[in-house]
Amino acid sequence: MTDDMQSQDSTMGLQVACDTAVSGCVFRMRTEEDDRERLLEVTREHVRERHGRDVTIEEIEDQHVETVEVPLEEQVR
Ligand SMILES: [Zn+2]
Repeated sequence: MTDDMQSQDSTMGLQVACDTAVSGCVFRMRTEEDDRERLLEVTREHVRERHGRDVTIEEIEDQHVETVEVPLEEQVR
């Protein structure tokens, strides 16, 4: 863990990408760390609907979620 390494210009977020597992699928989603549960749920639904596979939250967390640095300007909507 490197929690104490956070700079002021960015924050840590979570990113999930489906295309690592299934070629041709470009599903990708990025959220704030607080939104982890929603990210996992949405990804799980995606995999079930698009790929007909039943995956567990743990499986997604394990294989597809990466922690990424999100620049502050990217968070402004
Ligand atoms: Zn997919």
